[in-house]
Amino acid sequence: SDSSLRFKRILLKLSGEALAGALSWGIDVRFLDYLSEEVIKVRNLGVEVAIVVGGGNIFRGRSADKDGISRVTADYMGMLATVINALAFQDFLESKGVPTRVQTAIEMRAIAEPYIRRRAIRHLEKGRIVIFAAGTGNPYFSTDTAAALRAAEIRAEAVLKATKVDGIYEADPLLHKNAIKFEKLKYLDLLNKGLKVMDSTAVSLCMENNIPIIVFSISEPDSLVKIVTGHQIGTFVGRE
Ligand code: UDP
Repeated sequence: SDSSLRFKRILLKLSGEALAGALSWGIDVRFLDYLSEEVIKVRNLGVEVAIVVGGGNIFRGRSADKDGISRVTADYMGMLATVINALAFQDFLESKGVPTRVQTAIEMRAIAEPYIRRRAIRHLEKGRIVIFAAGTGNPYFSTDTAAALRAAEIRAEAVLKATKVDGIYEADPLLHKNAIKFEKLKYLDLLNKGLKVMDSTAVSLCMENNIPIIVFSISEPDSLVKIVTGHQIGTFVGRE
């Protein structure tokens, strides 16, 4: 029942890297299939699920800047990449019978709805999964910042940041085998320690609006279910 839920409305941030799964580039449809199952499980528990998708598996603005495409243009290309991911994810969710809406921060009405806050909330209340695409619609921002922004706008109770690693470590656990994992962190620690988990704009926005951030590994089956039912998974970032 609802009372067993720790969070009733979540904002899940799926990076492009998550959508690439086992691939180094593009969309891993097998992993997308798994991801959609994981999301549907929590939706079926009665959790309202909004998703912000990244685009790094297709195109990243920052890296293109050096390669001769100007930063602003490259950022728009990156935002378009997130739309490609959103459409793929929507297709998987809907093929499993779950009504889903994509809303884009840059209008492209033939493909998706434009972002309209009230409408997004209405979709969530009706049990539809809402995927926010095209980031914030502005260059120089990231989809992490879009996640924090949309979470604040729709009053999500937490930002769940899916990563390849099962939380925040004092050092990259892939490079440092004995690196210690944080169970809990304060927003300010995340900002001050220079841990590259989320950019500072995104963290600041969550901090100002007191929205907890949970960094966890989406590759661990049922981690989303565990989080929404109150289990300690990954790293919790909050006020204290
Ligand atoms: N981007 C942007 N404004 C936004 C969100 C994204 O310009 O509000 C661009 C930026 O170039 C970024 C790319 O879109 O590199 C893909 O997003 P991001 O790198 O955040 O994706 P992720 O790392 O989550 O895959």
